Amino acid sequence: MALDLLLRQGRRADEEGPVDIAVASGRIVEIAERIAADAPEERLDGRLVIAGFVDSHIHLDKSCILDRCHCEQGTLEEAIASVATAKRSFTEADIYARAQRTLEKAIVQGTTRMRTHVEIDPRVGLKGFHAVRRLKHDYEWAIDLQICAFPQEGLTNDPGAEELLVQACEQGADVIGGCPYTDTIFEIARRFDLDIDFHLDFDTDPSWMHLDEVCRQTDAQGWGGRVAVGHVTKLSAIDHCRLAEIGRRLADVGVAVTVLPATDLFLMGRDRHLHVPRGVAPAHRLLHHGVTCSLATNNVLNPFTPFGDCSLIRMANLYANVAQIGRARDLKACFDMITTLPARLMNAAHYGVAVGHPADLVVLDSRDPALAVAEVAQPLFGLKRGRRSFTRAAATIHRP
Ligand SMILES: [Zn+2]
Repeated sequence: MALDLLLRQGRRADEEGPVDIAVASGRIVEIAERIAADAPEERLDGRLVIAGFVDSHIHLDKSCILDRCHCEQGTLEEAIASVATAKRSFTEADIYARAQRTLEKAIVQGTTRMRTHVEIDPRVGLKGFHAVRRLKHDYEWAIDLQICAFPQEGLTNDPGAEELLVQACEQGADVIGGCPYTDTIFEIARRFDLDIDFHLDFDTDPSWMHLDEVCRQTDAQGWGGRVAVGHVTKLSAIDHCRLAEIGRRLADVGVAVTVLPATDLFLMGRDRHLHVPRGVAPAHRLLHHGVTCSLATNNVLNPFTPFGDCSLIRMANLYANVAQIGRARDLKACFDMITTLPARLMNAAHYGVAVGHPADLVVLDSRDPALAVAEVAQPLFGLKRGRRSFTRAAATIHRP
């Protein structure tokens, strides 16, 4: 078979020795210690090669709006109010342009799969949904984008929101979101056979939790493996005993967890002036109980999170630092939470460096996943279905 490309001596995150990887017609056709073939080649010298980072939770539609929001306090209430105001002047072209800017940043950071929430409500209508659906199509060559139709401002309390949500599902939404939790979301998910991704908790008060009801419903509806929850900041405020109980329950019923460190660190504990709590759910501890956990970007350059380079390796490093993780095996778990685990959370088909899979391959300037997190290793180049989708020049020192 004529090969299009050979990657020489790359290291996979879960395997020991380096291998050659052969690509033809957009797929991985062979992986072996040595492949004898005459084809264009790239020498990786033992660098990590992954199927790309997977961002399981981002908001492309409301990214890059800092310049039109005037926030003084940095609280959640202020962020919600100022984004709700800004949203009234969104146009489809404006949403497309901002989402495109953010998506391109993610692509050059080595992200090859992504789930974006898109807000749907009577103010913005389906403008965001239509803009991001177009973007999904226009950037298929670089990234697989799942669109989660998301009624941010509620459903039962917002007349017209449910009708719009159903329209988005009819028009190709991949996932349905909710905030806060309501039964209606499960009903619509069943009707359209969609996975569900809830936003849960915007506080660190563990005296009550929507999570219990989400677990109960997931179990009752037989939707295990198809439900994810984002934030769950209340889990940052409970003892290990209760966390273990909840972890076992999540694993049993098949509810996955996405932790969003940048946003939660920015917004939680605003009522405190000293010893501000971190408010970041301990995903690495939930992993021990078999929960599918991911670390993701969430907001980029808006009042919820006035930061963002869309780098998931930076997010993993931030999480490890905040969660006081230093052992190599725990750092490796952080790496898994931006690669294989979010792919599982998203039920992403054919993810991974394996024969027969699409040649989605990203090369990192590192030889070890734990060190990649510790050092915030940079991606050097990436392929999507065998075609090069981005290149980042490695830094050069100019000695005297
Ligand atoms: Zn979110």
